[in-house]
Amino acid sequence: MEYKIISVTNFFQNCYLIWCKKTFNAALIDPGGEYKKILNLLKKYKLKIKKILITHCHLDHIGSAYTLSKILNVPILGPHRYDIFWLKNIELQNKLFNLPYCVFKDNIWLKNKQNISIGKINFKVYHCPGHTPGHIIFFNKSNRIIISGDIIFKNNIGRTDLPKSNFYVLKNSIKKIISLLKSKDIIILPGHGEKTTLYKEIKNNIYLKLKYE
Ligand SMILES: [Zn+2]
Ligand SMILES: [Zn+2]
Repeated sequence: MEYKIISVTNFFQNCYLIWCKKTFNAALIDPGGEYKKILNLLKKYKLKIKKILITHCHLDHIGSAYTLSKILNVPILGPHRYDIFWLKNIELQNKLFNLPYCVFKDNIWLKNKQNISIGKINFKVYHCPGHTPGHIIFFNKSNRIIISGDIIFKNNIGRTDLPKSNFYVLKNSIKKIISLLKSKDIIILPGHGEKTTLYKEIKNNIYLKLKYE
């Protein structure tokens, strides 16, 4: 598996272009805006884009998904259906985040533990609510990589001050992932900021250490 990051929107959202080195089949994950910038990068690589994957329905992650799905003639997969709340409020999101309005429709909702393939690459979907109700992450076992969207970042976790977000639910989602994957040796590719590892976050991330009971 190979990947490139394209930073989009004022939120410096990490759109990931990932591809299979054997088949050159590829996917875009969270194309949050600036579709021309994304298309320009695609020109540099001879890849066959097959899918657009979405971790959650915040505007900085979905902004150019529908436009690109039409241009590239590919389906949009994700997130979990519980994020319909944010789609119903898509006009309000542009005021909330100060991002341009976008159309987002015809996506295929994904379920917990569903498998997605891109060439020879397999991703397992995990439903991880808390930042948004329908947030999902994508886990690639053979490369030990999580595409984590906005649930966890280097030394930080996703915002829980937004409507339908919940700190305790998010913390439980992260805990569940840590116990499910049973390994600290996993790279986290987050929706914003630098990559990190599960090991570093278990060791350093204050939000995972705080005790509440
Ligand atoms: Zn978000
Ligand atoms: Zn975000």
